[in-house]
Amino acid sequence: MIEITTHSVQETVKAGEILGKLLKKGDVVCLNGDLGAGKTAFTNGIAHALGIKGYITSPTFTIINEYSGQLPLYHFDVYRISDFTEMFEIGFEEYLDGGGVSVIEWAELIDPVLPSDRVSVTLTRGADDSRDIKICFIGERYKDRENRYDLEELH
Ligand code: ADP
Ligand code: MG
Repeated sequence: MIEITTHSVQETVKAGEILGKLLKKGDVVCLNGDLGAGKTAFTNGIAHALGIKGYITSPTFTIINEYSGQLPLYHFDVYRISDFTEMFEIGFEEYLDGGGVSVIEWAELIDPVLPSDRVSVTLTRGADDSRDIKICFIGERYKDRENRYDLEELH
């Protein structure tokens, strides 16, 4: 597990960018944390690493936004999903196999349909603008990835 404390939104974006550089097609990043914890900020870092320009926002009402970068980014926000079976209706499985990177905000709400191998990121608000970020690389698919997460790049 990697644990980082950030003190600004820019630093959280950077933490996401460092992860983004390590991602490969078919990877799944699960983000958890309360409203305002920084899930979308972290996703912006991933997007930036994939060469996607501009600031992206949570697809709260559309559930999924797709961006084209060096790899496609499938950005989900499942906060408004009423139950996980809805994920099949929006073609979640096709996205997982779609040759891009899937990033899911509020992933714990759809836990039954998530792959067991995944990158799990938990963001927690601290005092003022501080955020605690825990990154876990879970399963065979991500072995060796943790060693390549370069904390030096944060500073
Ligand atoms: P979420 O997607 O988890 O609801 P957002 O990334 O949309 O959260 O929003 C995080 C909010 O918190 C933004 O308004 C951002 O400016 C603010 N913020 C303050 N400090 C931080 C920090 N260290 N990391 C991330 N966001 C921060
Ligand atoms: Mg969000």
